[in-house]
Amino acid sequence: MRQSQFLVPTLREAPSDAEAASHKLLLRAGLARQLAAGVYTYLPAGRRVLRKVEKIVREEMDAAGAQELLMPAMQPAELWKESGRYKVYGPELIRLKDRHDREFALGPTHEEVITGIARSELGSYRQLPATLYQIQTKFRDEKRPRYGLLRGREFLMKDAYSFDADWDGLDRSYKRMFDAYNRIFSRIGLNFRAVEADAGSIGGEGGTHEFMALADIGEDTIAACDQCGYAANLEKAEYGAAVADEQRLEAAQTAKEPIKLHTPGARTIDELVQSLGLDASRFIKTLLYIADGKPIAVLVRGDHEVNEIKLQNALGAASLALADKETVEGLTKAETGFAGPVELGAVSIMADHAVMAMTEGIVGANETDFHLAEVRPGIHFIAAASGDYRNAVQGDDCPRCEAGKLQFHRGIEVGHVFKLGTKYSEKLSATFIDASGKEKPFIMGCYGIGVSRLLSAVLEQHNDENGICWPLEIAPFGVHIIPVSVKDSQQMELAEKLYEQLTKAGIDVLMDDRDERPGVKFKDSDLIGIPLRIVIGKGASEGIVEWKRRLTGETGTATVQEALAAAIGERQ
Ligand code: ATP
Ligand code: MG
Repeated sequence: MRQSQFLVPTLREAPSDAEAASHKLLLRAGLARQLAAGVYTYLPAGRRVLRKVEKIVREEMDAAGAQELLMPAMQPAELWKESGRYKVYGPELIRLKDRHDREFALGPTHEEVITGIARSELGSYRQLPATLYQIQTKFRDEKRPRYGLLRGREFLMKDAYSFDADWDGLDRSYKRMFDAYNRIFSRIGLNFRAVEADAGSIGGEGGTHEFMALADIGEDTIAACDQCGYAANLEKAEYGAAVADEQRLEAAQTAKEPIKLHTPGARTIDELVQSLGLDASRFIKTLLYIADGKPIAVLVRGDHEVNEIKLQNALGAASLALADKETVEGLTKAETGFAGPVELGAVSIMADHAVMAMTEGIVGANETDFHLAEVRPGIHFIAAASGDYRNAVQGDDCPRCEAGKLQFHRGIEVGHVFKLGTKYSEKLSATFIDASGKEKPFIMGCYGIGVSRLLSAVLEQHNDENGICWPLEIAPFGVHIIPVSVKDSQQMELAEKLYEQLTKAGIDVLMDDRDERPGVKFKDSDLIGIPLRIVIGKGASEGIVEWKRRLTGETGTATVQEALAAAIGERQ
């Protein structure tokens, strides 16, 4: 491609509303332009990168035995009503009507459509297992579209769906996709982690993983062990429970009565820390919840946060919400902010492991403006259950290995694999006939990759102060040829020759044939970030060129033949 003819509108400065490094580069390097909030045109260089990402995705999906199809973005509302999601999806679902007043939605995902296909086209166990995928535009009217392609309202996704006759089959299909995802993200050159995520009531152990590109701008927190391979989303991350030691138990035996503290107006841990001058870890927080209509008290240490997903899973409750003010005041006979576990009546108490490992703590007194100090868990209150009900924190013990500690990272979710089970096949009556002639619902899995989000995730990881440093496999071009002066016929001749030979060898080449100052060309070249640059300048008369690697900054001189051989060699 000749740069004089190539639409790659580079910018010196990014627009001021672009905060993320990847968003700035997306615009500055001429990869994409915004049409509306979260809606982008992929310009030629951006489209080239996306095609390379798609190529890798297709190769790995096909190798894993998946088959590509393409489903419509426009989907009849009836299908969404069958699954029950037309109501619950909320404002993210873009709804529209056709000229006959029939309701449609623009697909934010395709479980409904694919389950419809399976229902009508996969009738027998002989056709199973089957995994079908597409790379397609998705629509989600996100509340906060931002960071360029990281959170769009119209974006590219690869979505795959597996259909199996039984749960063992699903485990195998899931594993194949999981492995394929690892290969895809490795080939793309991403620094990523596959993390355990919460599967809710379906899926069971290992029921869902998210693939996270590590980046400070990421919206998700990942807890990862610094010793073993354990990594999980914060909502799911477990921690090694501290064991109550002998000393604590002994101390508890000789416990005296709690001491009443006058704490006027101090309702929150922050306020208590302020007024008593003690560390937050000395307190025990009491939160009152209503789970399936019944009140429960949840205790976590003052410096910890309740994890409602863990709590709900532990309770097996269909609904869980913080109790309202009236309920709290009714249960504690005090204003809100003074709830505590001592003499709380018939409310059952669930205490986090870390609370049960405390020798003593300060709790609310169930009396307005009072707290109790030297309260000993197991002595002054009895917990109906103790378990893991809080978010892990940095430095917690690893739940899997002996020596490891949990470290936190920020991550961008670039992929998601999920065991759906029969969630959709039952709702949509999608069944097949099994080997014994019985009708059964498909056991399904779904597997997504944010193709356009990936582009931005790569930008977030692969850049320096001068611009992008593309990983080789997805760079828009493999080689950037820069003749220093287009008016110099010797330079241009050599440049053309190299361009032709590299192109013949199947390498994508961008040649900067613009009549610009060398400084401008080099700046643009750094910004665009092609892995290998070959500069043709004064040495042209002797057939000598200069080369520079974008990633390492390494430079050198070579004969044209050497440069050619090196560039071609890298591709193989
Ligand atoms: P998020 O939590 O980031 O909103 P999600 O869990 O809703 O994502 P999935 O339904 O699992 O997303 O979709 C599969 C993949 O599609 C995600 O892993 C992500 O990479 C990508 N994706 C989801 N929403 C967006 C978006 N608004 N813009 C770009 N990519 C997206
Ligand atoms: Mg997800």
